[in-house]
Amino acid sequence: MPSPVYFGSARQARLEANESLPAKLDLIIDRLNLRDRVKNETVAIKMHTGNNLGYSTVHPVFARKVVQAVKDGGGKPFVTDISWDVRGAEARGYSTETFGCPVFPTAGPDEKYFYAHPRPFKNIREWKMAGLIQDTTFMINFAHVKGHPSCGFGAAFKNLALGCMIGETRGAMHDAMHFDRYWFAEHCPDAATRQRIAASCPHAAIVEDRDQPGEMHLHFEQCNQCGRCLQVAPPGSLKIDPVNFHSFQEACAISVEQVLSTFAPGKTTHLSLATHMTPVCDCFGFTSMPILPDAGVFGSDDIVAIDRAVLDVTGRMQLIEENLPTSLEVHTRQGHPFRWLHGPYKDPYLVTEYGAQLGLGSCEYELIDVLPVEQIERAPIGYIPAR
Ligand code: SF4
Repeated sequence: MPSPVYFGSARQARLEANESLPAKLDLIIDRLNLRDRVKNETVAIKMHTGNNLGYSTVHPVFARKVVQAVKDGGGKPFVTDISWDVRGAEARGYSTETFGCPVFPTAGPDEKYFYAHPRPFKNIREWKMAGLIQDTTFMINFAHVKGHPSCGFGAAFKNLALGCMIGETRGAMHDAMHFDRYWFAEHCPDAATRQRIAASCPHAAIVEDRDQPGEMHLHFEQCNQCGRCLQVAPPGSLKIDPVNFHSFQEACAISVEQVLSTFAPGKTTHLSLATHMTPVCDCFGFTSMPILPDAGVFGSDDIVAIDRAVLDVTGRMQLIEENLPTSLEVHTRQGHPFRWLHGPYKDPYLVTEYGAQLGLGSCEYELIDVLPVEQIERAPIGYIPAR
């Protein structure tokens, strides 16, 4: 049976507050029966609070709606994110005063509070999950949708996969992309050729390894798989191979499997806000121009279904190419617009497919618009008199 995904479109029929996104989030909270589910629960609201000068993460107006719903239902809410992002979050408008509840780092101020979950995957032996997340009885995963240089896009999966692990595991997940060999030094003993390979990349994505002479290091985040380097590299010396790129997305799915396994059935739900979608992650510490039109707000108990729905809705939108930074190039026009930017091996749908294989949810969903604009009667623009 398809999983329900509730959706509030960014479009309005009339210029009225009750058709705006925070009001539609309220309708989604109702449809998820959130208030009835949180009585006496300690509720972690996992957000990405951004970093440095970012201002496109989930606005406190939305988070406050969720906090209030939890309080109305008799739950004890707190907002949480990794310590790196929580530190200084008040500069971006995130504080106890704006949320109406405390803001805590997921694993303590120095990320020393965690539980280890053994689960071998490539270079990773165990997953060090943030203690505060594991200790709570209910979790609301509230993600901001954006592009991501490692996996194409970040939303519900990404918010938990990286945001509920400590730094050591987050680093290991990125390192998983290097696990399968891609450089074969025996086929390229010549230093001048290695320099030509590095020079062929317009994104500085392949460089000589600083610590290991003769080795080349691929920065997977910067690589859009254009293949220019392969035209310079001697046969057999270099692979630009899907297996490396896909490792990160599989690691994200496994990480989420570990996180969700600590909650009883029905004790997690997911919200995603698809507005001001930038090319890269909120952890970059700044906000660039949006590259897609605002889509809206989504909610579901099914993490696979919500990310699928977000991708399907945003995938039908037009990439705003004039808003792209000049350092990014569109070199494929197949699939989702995030894939156009980050390359064909960073297909954003992959994480949902790995997640479905792990039994975390369903790729089949029913999108339920909580306030379809077509059903709203048109009316003149409202007038707010000066007082
Ligand atoms: S495939 Fe393109 S982006 Fe990637 S390392 Fe080679 S030249 Fe650079």
